[in-house]
Amino acid sequence: MIPKKNSRRSHAVALVAGLMMLGAAQAHGDKHEHGVVHLDVAIEGDTLAIQLESPLDSVLGFERQPRTPAERQSVERMLATLRGGAVLFTPDARGQCRFEAAQLESGLIAKPSTDSAANKLEHLDVDVSYRFRCAAATDLKTLSHQLFALFPRIQRIDAQVATPKGQSRQVLQRPAATLTLGG
Ligand SMILES: [Zn+2]
Repeated sequence: MIPKKNSRRSHAVALVAGLMMLGAAQAHGDKHEHGVVHLDVAIEGDTLAIQLESPLDSVLGFERQPRTPAERQSVERMLATLRGGAVLFTPDARGQCRFEAAQLESGLIAKPSTDSAANKLEHLDVDVSYRFRCAAATDLKTLSHQLFALFPRIQRIDAQVATPKGQSRQVLQRPAATLTLGG
């Protein structure tokens, strides 16, 4: 009887471990879901920081090195649009914010010399960090965005917002254009 019990228990343990691994795999998969963009928005001191993470598919339509002049143009357009923080994001006027900088990273542009390696990857992301400087950051109530307007393939934005007033998770479905700040 005792050995049988033990084997049943180890079965249960294996099952739980299996489910946990599945959960981890799904959580990781969620990070790269075509049509979904992740935003991390944080107010710290006089800084409004926005981190954008998107599958290249959602902002470009393909996830490999460009092969034609038209595709290269698409890449240039996409990069220019994503770097335009002052157009992409509008903190509400109460915050008196000024766009300062955008930093962009992508497997597509980071290693131009390893085309063949990049092409073997199944998926590529683009990450952009935006920084706004705000004279009255604590008065910010909303942050509007143009992501749906500028990138037709984006369907949903999963956002995490952290301000001195608290943290929240917000999901914007096309065409919702405004995140709530201020807890
Ligand atoms: Zn992908």
